[in-house]
Amino acid sequence: MKNRILVLGAGFAGLELVTLLSDALGDTIDATLIDQSDHFVFGFSKLDVTFGKKTPDAVKLPYRNIVKPGVRFLQRTVTSIDPEARRVTTDQETLEADYLIVGLGADYDYDATPGLITGGNEFYSVAGATRLRDVLTGFPSGHAIVGVCDAPFKCPPAPSEAALMLHDHLVGRGIRDRCEITLVIPFGKPVPPSPDTSTALIAAFAERKITFIPDRKVKALDGSRRTAILDDGAELPYDLFLGVPKHRVPSVVEASGMVENGWVAVNPRTLETKWPGVFAVGDLANTGTPKAGVFAEGTARSVASTVIAEIRGAGRTEPNAGAGSCYIEFGGGRVGRVDVDFFSGPKPTGVFHGASTELRADKDNFGATRRRRWFGTA
Ligand SMILES: Cc1cc2nc3c(=O)[nH]c(=O)nc-3n(C[C@H](O)[C@H](O)[C@H](O)COP(=O)(O)OP(=O)(O)OC[C@H]3O[C@@H](n4cnc5c(N)ncnc54)[C@H](O)[C@@H]3O)c2cc1C
Repeated sequence: MKNRILVLGAGFAGLELVTLLSDALGDTIDATLIDQSDHFVFGFSKLDVTFGKKTPDAVKLPYRNIVKPGVRFLQRTVTSIDPEARRVTTDQETLEADYLIVGLGADYDYDATPGLITGGNEFYSVAGATRLRDVLTGFPSGHAIVGVCDAPFKCPPAPSEAALMLHDHLVGRGIRDRCEITLVIPFGKPVPPSPDTSTALIAAFAERKITFIPDRKVKALDGSRRTAILDDGAELPYDLFLGVPKHRVPSVVEASGMVENGWVAVNPRTLETKWPGVFAVGDLANTGTPKAGVFAEGTARSVASTVIAEIRGAGRTEPNAGAGSCYIEFGGGRVGRVDVDFFSGPKPTGVFHGASTELRADKDNFGATRRRRWFGTA
């Protein structure tokens, strides 16, 4: 009898997980990867779409290209999860598993911020990035705010990157001197675990006359007055709003009983839930690390090692390292990198590598290696 492994969500975590399982166990397993979409998009590609560097079609990686021994992909919407029975219902069938791995990512709660969609724009979904791209093309002049509505949110450096890329975009259109840019984030520093990264970003904001407002969230937008209301009651008039919506677990996960304090409760080092054979990976797992693809991959690696060791009856769990490298767009075609480590020391650390064109090549290579490993494409 082959072990039935059900992986919910073909994102950073799910894709890495089935790749490792297939590489190690091939068709000795019966693994099913489920996603509601027919394609994957890297988070950072949403910035490329927003600022017109790539089209939405160019950043889609179709799941039909996944060819891995022991793995089948099903395009389905997961409608219920029963962790006790390791049983999952989709819009088409009910599936049972020996190992159930939940990696459905973080959803957006647009309604939590009144006025965000009617009075502003978000750039965290492909649809939002595409709409914003079109709005940006016609933006004539005025005050643009890049604002975060709540924490935690995916890829903590992304709002800073958006502000710097917006600067370049407005310079490119020859209207920067008729615009102001303000960045509002809920942290004291742009990248809290790395003082050096934060210092470099704050210097980049100052050079470009980007106003930086730390420690604040955008609570609401009043579209009729074109005013953003912050969580301390301060009001900021805007002509263009680029928002990061509040994040939440997908509602199907919320209904599964796996959620405590907003996210799925796991052992941060093994990703085990309290149900035997049931794991949570990636953004929805409450590990204490940021919501980012590199950390999602780390959780997948750990779960893969456990499943492989159990099936082979040899080897052992590789603990989730809680470490990874994040690339940061600094504008002008240059990319910086921060190597973040959440678990090794008494507090999180982040080693900064200054922005350069060489690191842009590294970032491109990061994407290319995943495309090859997961989809077999260049
Ligand atoms: C603007 C932006 C920039 C970013 N930049 C970076 C970066 O430079 N580096 C980095 O490491 N990370 C970056 N990220 C973060 C990164 O994209 C996420 O942290 C990562 O994708 C999380 O992986 P995951 O597997 O947990 O979830 P996801 O990749 O979000 O995958 C979850 C999958 O579950 C599917 N799903 C959800 N609900 C259902 C359902 N009910 N039924 C079926 N399928 C469902 C979704 O369709 C999705 O494919 C960025 C994110 C954004 C938005």
